[in-house]
Amino acid sequence: MNSVPAPADADAGDSTRTNLLGMTRPALRAWVAGLGEQPYRADQVMKWAYHRGAKAFGEMTDLSRLFRERLESLAEFRAPRIESVQQSSDGTRKWLLRLEDGNAIETVLIPEERRVTLCVSSQVGCALNCSFCSTATQGFSRNLSVEEIVGQVWLAHHAVGEEDPDGPGITNVVFMGMGEPLLNFDNVVAAMNIMRDDMAFGLARRRVTLSTSGLVPGIDRLREVCDVSLAVSLHAPDDELRNKLVPINRKYPIAELLAACERYVAARPRARVTFEYTLMAGVNDSPRQAKALARVLEGVPAKINLIPFNPYPGAVYRRPSQGDMQRFVDILHRAGYTTTLRRTRGDDIDAACGQLVGRVKDRTRRQARHRARLEGDRPLA
Ligand code: SAH
Repeated sequence: MNSVPAPADADAGDSTRTNLLGMTRPALRAWVAGLGEQPYRADQVMKWAYHRGAKAFGEMTDLSRLFRERLESLAEFRAPRIESVQQSSDGTRKWLLRLEDGNAIETVLIPEERRVTLCVSSQVGCALNCSFCSTATQGFSRNLSVEEIVGQVWLAHHAVGEEDPDGPGITNVVFMGMGEPLLNFDNVVAAMNIMRDDMAFGLARRRVTLSTSGLVPGIDRLREVCDVSLAVSLHAPDDELRNKLVPINRKYPIAELLAACERYVAARPRARVTFEYTLMAGVNDSPRQAKALARVLEGVPAKINLIPFNPYPGAVYRRPSQGDMQRFVDILHRAGYTTTLRRTRGDDIDAACGQLVGRVKDRTRRQARHRARLEGDRPLA
C-alpha cells in the first residue's frame, strides 16, 4: 500500500496506475467524476496529498472506504526516482533524478535567509544552443511531462518538509534549470497551475518565475493563460552580440522581445520583468555595454539580475573580475535600475546557473557536432 510513496522510495518502475501528480485540479476533477464520484472529491485528495503529506490513500479518512480502495488500485502520486543528492557547503542541494525512460535531469534547491528557491528543469537537454550554457552542449532530447516537472517540486517539498516540519517549505520556484520552458508550453503551464493552486503548492504569482531565452510568441501566449513572473535572458545590449550568444535572437531580435515584455507587464499591475545578464569577461562586461543596456531597457518596467559566468569543462568564456562586475552594477544603479549581482551558489557541486546537464541516454549526433564546434570556438571578444 504505497500509493503515495515517500519520496526516497518512490518507485519510478513500470507501474500502470494513473499518476495523479501530473493532474491540474480541473483534470483531477474530471478523472474523479469518471469514477462516478463528486468532482469536489478531487480537492480533498489534493489537500491530503500536498498539504497533509498523506503517504497512502488509506489515510484520506474523509473519503468513503470504497473510493479509497479504488484509488489505491488505480492511482498513485509517482515522482521521478532520486538517483543522487549532492549537498554544497553553502546549503545548496542538487538532485539527479532518473526518469522512467532512463533519461536524467537535475533540480537545485537554494536556501536563503528568507526564502527557499527551487530551480526546476523543463526539458531533457535544450535545443537553443546558447553559446555559454552547458545544457546546450548535450543537445535536445525531449520535453518533460507535467508530472516530471511537478515531481521535482514534490520531491524537494517532501525532503525540506521532513527535515524542518515547521519551516516554510519551498517558497519560490524558478524555471532556470535545464531546457527552454516556452518550448514545452502546455506542460509547463499545467505544472505552474499546480504550483499556484491553493490545493497543491499554493505559490503566489511573484513566487513562480518562468525564465525564457526570448521566444516572443510564447511570451504573448503566456500572458493570456497564466499569471506568473517573467524573466528574460538578455545577456547583450545589442542584436549583433546577442545573435552570437543567444541564437534565437536572429528570429526574435531585441526590439521585438522588449515589446513582448512590455505587453506582458502591461497586463499585470506593478509587475516588472527580470532581465538576466550573464557577465562574461571581455564579451559583454564593459562600461560601454552597461550604458547601452541601461539605454535599451529605458521605459521597460525592469529589474536586472547579473549572473557571474559559471565555468564548466570545455567552456570558452571566463567570469570577469569582481571589480569589473561591480563597475557594471554601479553604472546600472546610477541609471536608476534595481540591479542585483547574483551570489554564486553551489559552485562546489556544479549546481550554479548554466551548469546543469543531467545525463542523457539517447545522445544525438548533434551533441557531438556541438562539442566539436565549441572546442573550435574562441571567446567572442
Ligand atoms: N532556457 C531558459 C532557462 C535557462 S537557465 C532561459 O534561457 O532563460 C537560467 C539562466 O542561466 C539563463 O539566463 C541562462 O542564460 C543562464 N546561464 C546559462 N549558462 C550559464 C553559465 N554558464 N553561467 C551563468 N549563467 C548561465
